[in-house]
Amino acid sequence: MLNYNSPAEIRRVLDALGLRLQKRWGQNFLINRGARRAIVSLVEPEERDTVWEIGPGLGTLTVLLLPEIRFLQVFEIDRGLIRFLNETFGDHKNFRIVAGDVMKTWKSCLDKQGPPDKIVGNLPYSSASALIGALAENRVAAKRMVFTVQRELAQRMTAEPGNKNYSSFTVLCQVAYRISERMKLKPGSFFPPPEVHSSVVVLQPNTEVIPDWSFFLRCTRALFRSRRKTMRNNLLAAGFTDSARLDRLFGELGIDPGVRSERLTPQELLRFSQRLKLDSEDL
Ligand code: SAM
Repeated sequence: MLNYNSPAEIRRVLDALGLRLQKRWGQNFLINRGARRAIVSLVEPEERDTVWEIGPGLGTLTVLLLPEIRFLQVFEIDRGLIRFLNETFGDHKNFRIVAGDVMKTWKSCLDKQGPPDKIVGNLPYSSASALIGALAENRVAAKRMVFTVQRELAQRMTAEPGNKNYSSFTVLCQVAYRISERMKLKPGSFFPPPEVHSSVVVLQPNTEVIPDWSFFLRCTRALFRSRRKTMRNNLLAAGFTDSARLDRLFGELGIDPGVRSERLTPQELLRFSQRLKLDSEDL
């Protein structure tokens, strides 16, 4: 079995496979033994669990997870790594590889299989925010999701109102999930070391039923379209309603019409969008 903590061994395996590290796929392998164990324990794997792992690479997390759970499905784009994963884990009956770009494959897996119990991944930097955004938009209700992401992305996911990192992405993530940043990782935890610091975040679904979800998504995007504009002006520019109705709604909800969206909490913005939807049904 490959020593996953040794850059020299990883390099040797990659050379033997004739593989070059692909920067565009964010191939920075986790070589910190303590971090690998801590990430797997954050997943809280249980015997009956089905787990998805995004971007398994050479299998540094896979090898720890596989013995703990009922079924592991991994999503990997790199054909050379897929070959290695097949050779290393292919004999396990509880292991399956979904080959290709996870952004193109995950949704059909969800439609066919339903949500897994848990999702884990040391996510490639290039697709981390798009993937997390897509999971949140679809309100994928895996019980726990444990993602290693660039520190800046973790800050965007956990930002509070008024913070410079607070955006429509923050609101979407925080309405769909409870999010906590659980661990910070320095570049030296990876081989090769990336130029950025990383964080491990845990996401758990907010299971509350949210009516008019697609309206909320459209409304949130409109509310943050221009950060310099007030809530009122962003909504009017997007043609959501007319100014008289909007002013009445602000009055009823006790919201200052001159406020910017970034001042309201995700729950306040959700409630606002639900009232706006009810109001616009009367139009
Ligand atoms: N899990 C391994 C680890 O921690 O050492 C590898 C993590 S590495 C940061 C990201 C992994 O995601 C790589 O194996 C890369 O090939 C894979 N990957 C990158 N883009 C992908 C995509 N669009 N779909 C599926 N896998 C992708």
